[in-house]
Amino acid sequence: MKVLTATEATQGTRADDYSWTTPGELVMFGAVCASDLRGTGQPCGCGRAFAGLHSARATTTAEVVESAMSLDDLVLAFRDSLTCGGWLDDLPPQDAAELVQLSVMEMLVVADRFPAGTVIGTHLGSQYVRQEAGAR
Ligand SMILES: [Zn+2]
Repeated sequence: MKVLTATEATQGTRADDYSWTTPGELVMFGAVCASDLRGTGQPCGCGRAFAGLHSARATTTAEVVESAMSLDDLVLAFRDSLTCGGWLDDLPPQDAAELVQLSVMEMLVVADRFPAGTVIGTHLGSQYVRQEAGAR
């Protein structure tokens, strides 16, 4: 199945790009703060971010990659990352399981919309193509 991973590809083509993740690591969509959601004042940039599962850092660029990981592997990876980040603290087990599943599904649904090799950006829940697959 296709997944989203951090990439340096197309970094710097937008003035507001940033990349603090480790290239190749799985990414998810993180929480977006009120400042970015409202679009008022000084946006902090989290509304354009993919969150690295391992680094717990953010990037504005992700690549759609064909992966041999199973769904169970993905759920485990997301659960570990969300646990390490404290996102599951104090959640009832059922709510924690739902948050993990939603995070995985959100990533998979987006990855499935693009051919493997596509570099995408995101803005407040909408994704766009930054580089077509096979353009490198
Ligand atoms: Zn923010």
